[in-house]
Amino acid sequence: MTAEYGVIVVGGGHAGCEAAAAAARLGVPTALVTHKVATIGEMSCNPAIGGLGKGHLVREIDALDGLMGRVADAAGIQFRVLNRRKGPAVRGPRAQADRKLYKAAMQGAISAQPGLDVVEAEVDDLLVGADGAVSGVVLLDGRCISARAVVLTTGTFLRGIIHRGEESFPAGRIGERPVLGLSTRLEALGLRLGRLKTGTPARLNRRTIDFSVLEEQPGDDEPEPFSPLTPVITTPQVSCYISRTTVETHRIISENLHRSAMYSGRIQSRGPRYCPSIEDKIVRFADRESHQIFLEPEGLDDDTIYPNGLSTSLPAEVQEQFLRTMPGLADVAILRSGYAIEYDHVDPRELRPTLELKRLPGLYLAGQINGTTGYEEAAAQGLLAGANAALAAKGSAPLTLSRTESYLGVMVDDLTTRGVSEPYRMFTSRAEFRLHLRSDNAAERLTPLGLAFGLVGEQRGDVFAERRGRLERGRALLETLTATPSAARAAGIAVNADGVRRSAFALMSYPGVGPAELARLWPEVDTLGRDTLEQLAIDAQYAVYVERQRSDVEAVRRDEARAIPDWIDFDGIPGLSAECRQKLKLHRPATIAQAQAIDGMTPAAVTLLLSIMRRGYLKQAV
Ligand code: FAD
Repeated sequence: MTAEYGVIVVGGGHAGCEAAAAAARLGVPTALVTHKVATIGEMSCNPAIGGLGKGHLVREIDALDGLMGRVADAAGIQFRVLNRRKGPAVRGPRAQADRKLYKAAMQGAISAQPGLDVVEAEVDDLLVGADGAVSGVVLLDGRCISARAVVLTTGTFLRGIIHRGEESFPAGRIGERPVLGLSTRLEALGLRLGRLKTGTPARLNRRTIDFSVLEEQPGDDEPEPFSPLTPVITTPQVSCYISRTTVETHRIISENLHRSAMYSGRIQSRGPRYCPSIEDKIVRFADRESHQIFLEPEGLDDDTIYPNGLSTSLPAEVQEQFLRTMPGLADVAILRSGYAIEYDHVDPRELRPTLELKRLPGLYLAGQINGTTGYEEAAAQGLLAGANAALAAKGSAPLTLSRTESYLGVMVDDLTTRGVSEPYRMFTSRAEFRLHLRSDNAAERLTPLGLAFGLVGEQRGDVFAERRGRLERGRALLETLTATPSAARAAGIAVNADGVRRSAFALMSYPGVGPAELARLWPEVDTLGRDTLEQLAIDAQYAVYVERQRSDVEAVRRDEARAIPDWIDFDGIPGLSAECRQKLKLHRPATIAQAQAIDGMTPAAVTLLLSIMRRGYLKQAV
């Protein structure tokens, strides 16, 4: 039977949109099957993209020609670079988005993508061939669609249950039905499923808030786009406001904890530790008298305000009571109460680094279904899963990303080797090579790879080549211009009088030395332009550290490249401890680096594995 599509992507959320667009960009006929065309690109929770760690992911998605960065640029109503006072490595670009504009821009991008069909339907089951490989999907109305590869990006919908106070009801998101058939099928296919939860705050009516008593938080004076393909941000920019919880807020919440779905013991599953509910914060940080709450507009022509930091599963009337104890909210009206949702996810240790299931060839998973939380984490996985599904459909080599070159590589490695015990979100602290993995150099790190795989289109290729040329010429110039310590000191640059000539590039790494100081010595520096000089200054600042990390990076790359062959029988390795043997059998690591990352794996076990691999290779060579 010939497949109707190369790739089918199930779900039009953040993971699904990137997966479908990536597969189609690779020239593979793709279908995006989703419940409702109108909810493609829906922001289920906060109306914002990016932030610490997450902003890095958006830039990486963009570097691989994904959609999220450009869509956020089109919909952003407040741009801020977080951590601006800290080093560039940990700065996080973030944009508050107009929810409707975001959805419209994403739907526009999906419909403009050649080779991509959108099908409005629910997927109820998978077609699995006699060879055990997934070969398509079955829709709820019984229709079948065949494909060479399928990507599941079902978000919080798998056996979703919403909890608010004492009430619970099945739902995928508020007002949407849960998905039952697929969970049952995944379980029957022997996959390990787990249960996680997340929550969202009440939405407030802007007209009932007294902003005059609140602190205003404007965006950056010059909004910085996520994507180099966005020349300038044209959407009007707005402010957010800051309120705070009070002693009275905490009293009301504490007295009603038994009515919170989570604290009454009705929800057993784990929630995001780093994005806790307000109940959680009040219990965990009992000594704090107040927590900051950001009041964020959901759109330019929308009266909805999102109170960031107040996610809750308390009953609706308690939500209203505690909200009214906060500055500016004495008369607040709730448009929709907050709630918590519990859902199934698949243990991501079931996945290969391509995001294909080890036990079900042809089936790829991305997003919340893998135990992550957040739009950016979902989108980044979607792009990788969609690309790999398309590459497999074409019979091409897969795309895998290393921890040493991207946050996406770090996330996939963490998920596939360590699994999750709570919803996984990205932080800069997860990346050991974060001095190199900066949001400013995402394109330099990933666009060449995207070009090599055919994932990056011509327009981005041209923009990238122009920028790279500019940076290379600029750096070459700055490295040729050199000055003696006395010449540098005469220009007001404090260097040791050690007789060593220093290049303009090296001097740029000195504190307080910028283009103006260099131009005093070499007026031609000004011809390089502001953007080029800013980027070269960052490169100069990090050059020493990146050089120092080079040997560590190379060691990780060597281990990542050392694939553990399928013929290795862990039961047959003498001297391996029972614990390590069991863990190796459970995780089936694809590489030595993955084996090392398994919790509890000893260096001795890895050495043993390496020696068996070496002996095996010798035997095969004879
Ligand atoms: P989603 O964006 O949920 O998209 C899933 C898509 O799949 C939907 O379009 C759905 O209609 C479709 N679909 C599902 N099953 C099928 C099927 N069988 N057939 C056809 N279509 C199907 N993230 C945070 O970072 N912080 C938070 O505090 C936070 N709180 C949240 C609170 C709530 C109540 C919810 C619902 C989500 C929250 N999130 C939060 C998570 C964030 O929304 C998700 O991480 C992100 O949307 C995941 O993207 P995704 O693509 O995996 O899934």
